Amino acid sequence: MDSRTVALIRTTFKSVAAEDGGPEKLARSFYAILFTEYPQVRDFFPAALDAQRDRLVKAIAYVVDRLEEPDKLLPFLAQLGRDHRKYGVVAEHYAAVGKSLKSALEAYAGTELWTEEISRAWDEGLAVIAGTMMEAADQESTPPVWTGTVIEHREVLRNLAIVRLKLDQPIQYAAGQYMSVQIPSRPRMWRYLSPAIPATPSGEIEFHIRGVTGGWVSPAMVGHTKVGEQWLIGSPLGGLGVPRNTRRKLLMVGCGTGIAPLRAQLMAMTQRRSNPKVDLFVGGHYPCDLYDLEILSQLALANKWLTITPVTESNEDPWWQPANSVEPREHPGLQPRLVGQIGKIVAGFGSWSDRDVQIVGSPSMVQTTKFRLMAAGTPTANIRHDPLF
Ligand SMILES: Cc1cc2nc3c(=O)[nH]c(=O)nc-3n(C[C@H](O)[C@H](O)[C@H](O)COP(=O)(O)OP(=O)(O)OC[C@H]3O[C@@H](n4cnc5c(N)ncnc54)[C@H](O)[C@@H]3O)c2cc1C
Repeated sequence: MDSRTVALIRTTFKSVAAEDGGPEKLARSFYAILFTEYPQVRDFFPAALDAQRDRLVKAIAYVVDRLEEPDKLLPFLAQLGRDHRKYGVVAEHYAAVGKSLKSALEAYAGTELWTEEISRAWDEGLAVIAGTMMEAADQESTPPVWTGTVIEHREVLRNLAIVRLKLDQPIQYAAGQYMSVQIPSRPRMWRYLSPAIPATPSGEIEFHIRGVTGGWVSPAMVGHTKVGEQWLIGSPLGGLGVPRNTRRKLLMVGCGTGIAPLRAQLMAMTQRRSNPKVDLFVGGHYPCDLYDLEILSQLALANKWLTITPVTESNEDPWWQPANSVEPREHPGLQPRLVGQIGKIVAGFGSWSDRDVQIVGSPSMVQTTKFRLMAAGTPTANIRHDPLF
């Protein structure tokens, strides 16, 4: 794609996305056109589309922002194509989605903005996206979807559960990747989760799940999961990970369940002969939120290259927290807990300019930490995080 094509796509999308309520209107219009013109695709989507609409626009924005970075965008699209096999989508479905998106953009942009040249630019962009996804899907030989049986469900905090599953066959994922997951009580509502352990040859997998207030799926995963029920799991996604034999030192910052993909990578690294120095900052609102300190303490004690610093925004547990909170217990090997906003604390140590940086947590925590680090002098190109949708 040449730079003119990219600029035309970006300008039309930004003109919609920048308007107040624009993304919401675009997504509504897209789904209305798609389901009217191609009613056969309705079954791929959940009954309630509110959360879906938000994700759609964020996903398009993510792709549009990376059109000039094919080395990043094409592997992302290939992963997405492999993941989309779980829906059973074929070429005609990609065409239906592409045409409906173009119609929605055209209707929204209006005749003044929408020209023949813009129309051709979108055709080209959509062809690259669909072509890359379909090609990757066609070439993949792993199952389109795995079935995992829940073997353990443990609420370690109010509103946070650790769920362990045994898969029907092992998934070869890299530590740090994530997958889309569907639970039986929420059909077609796939949500991304990051395994907290590296892939095992026997197919066990562990997820850490926080119930988001008002969310469709996560409160059910945390509160209503039963041992023996079966979850569906899609192909691995994402590019976090630490290459073997790297000499680049690392900074990892994780909040809440964001510790899961970081812990999985650290566990994978313990199997290697040598590792660069790693600093991990693990954050929570209250001391009692740091649910994984036991395991982290064992990792830090056994690995000299690893320094782990707990950080909480509040120095005290909330009044409603039971007295047997994890905090009073000793966690040898860990640095003393620091109190404050995690991004500010990490950036307060200096520029970290010699580090590869990974940030995992809620979208707002990732953005804030990233900006704090950039302001402290961390080169933007060294900072990695998963897509925020
Ligand atoms: C790459 C990736 C990896 C992820 N890994 C994990 C994981 O390992 N464990 C885990 O618990 N979750 C993880 N998530 C988040 C998870 O996929 C869901 O988005 C989350 O559980 C909310 O789903 P829901 O159906 O309950 O809420 P929805 O019904 O989708 O959303 C309800 C409302 O909550 C808001 N919301 C959604 N997510 C969050 C959030 N994280 N913080 C604050 N508000 C939010 C939405 O904007 C919406 O307004 C990951 C997300 C991504 C993108």
